[in-house]
Amino acid sequence: MHKLIVCRHCDHIIKLPELKCGQKAFCGYCQAPVFEPKETSVQGAFAFALAALILLISALTYEFISFTMGGITHSVSLMSALPTLAQHNGALLAIILMTFVVFFPAIILLTVLAMYSPIWLYVPLKVARRLTKLLSHAEPWNMSEIFLIAILVSLIKLITLADIQFGPSFWAYAGFVACFIQMLNLIQLDSLWERITPYESPIFVDLSKRASDQGLVSCPTCGQVSSKHRCPRCETALFSRKPDSVNKVTAWLVTSIVLFFPANLLPIMNTQQLQDVIPSTIVTGVLQLWNAGSYPIAIIIFIASVLIPVLKLVAIGVLLYQVKQLSHDNSRHYTKIYRYIELIGKWSMIDVFVVIFLVSLVQLGVFMSVTADIGTLFFALMVFAQIMAVHYFDPRLIWDNPKERHG
Ligand SMILES: [Zn+2]
Ligand SMILES: [Zn+2]
Repeated sequence: MHKLIVCRHCDHIIKLPELKCGQKAFCGYCQAPVFEPKETSVQGAFAFALAALILLISALTYEFISFTMGGITHSVSLMSALPTLAQHNGALLAIILMTFVVFFPAIILLTVLAMYSPIWLYVPLKVARRLTKLLSHAEPWNMSEIFLIAILVSLIKLITLADIQFGPSFWAYAGFVACFIQMLNLIQLDSLWERITPYESPIFVDLSKRASDQGLVSCPTCGQVSSKHRCPRCETALFSRKPDSVNKVTAWLVTSIVLFFPANLLPIMNTQQLQDVIPSTIVTGVLQLWNAGSYPIAIIIFIASVLIPVLKLVAIGVLLYQVKQLSHDNSRHYTKIYRYIELIGKWSMIDVFVVIFLVSLVQLGVFMSVTADIGTLFFALMVFAQIMAVHYFDPRLIWDNPKERHG
């Protein structure tokens, strides 16, 4: 029997064909990908999770990178970076570093290890449900790979100025990111939910009508289609549309527009070299890289820190405008815009991590030292406001008949 699922982008009901690994099912209405079976491996996922955890712990314990200039050396480990950041205007940055680079990945790893080991058979259903739910929502908050790229970007900025030595923890961290990504590739959330409660296709449905027209809602956490107020499989509260979506998105959009200006105009960090203090904003940082001849890095930072935030602001504005229109043409096209902005969200954080890394590493007293400045705070808040705006946007509104709004 064919499985019936609901497209979370447009709310149409889709009859899922039998798929082999390497095949992908797309929604016939909005063309969003709806299902892709993966070559899952329980042993593989467990092995990579264990390796990643050991490497992450090693990355916390030893020396990460050392920086030598004018005969003075400053070595940094991930743990020693925290007090250094706090002393140089970066208390919030220390929190961001720990939360997104260490804490979230560690939670994901421990959850995966529990799920793929024999302990899982003895875990009470309620706890199993909670942990699977946590795993379903945690991935967008893992920023370990962005941190790794940010380190490489920072090193290109520094390599002409000083002698850089990689410590064992740096290699451990790079290994951790590789194992972590490989582990995520071996996990299929659908099959994890399947182990808790098998998926039940809705019965007596009219495939020509959308789910909400038949009182059905697709669960945002596990994908189960149901007519109840709470998902029978994972107990997530179900709403036919995200409550108060338009107002919440508007509020977060306005917030991010307001934050955009200080984020770009105020300095994100100050570099002190002998007696000179040079403040740099995001744009002057890009120009410095460009003038130094690091064109690819200058382009990456420009795209991640300037272009993506601007495009996201415009795109969210366009989507809101479209939802409020009296006729909804080209819905497929707007859904595509939504899918893109959902994907690129966290990469804007790269510059925040560059500042985190430079402030932790470059501390040679009068010779050269870097302190964080207020621009970083505004920038991080702006990225957060944009992520929230996208989070609260309900793409199904693009497909709703404007005359009969669902909410
Ligand atoms: Zn669709
Ligand atoms: Zn659910």
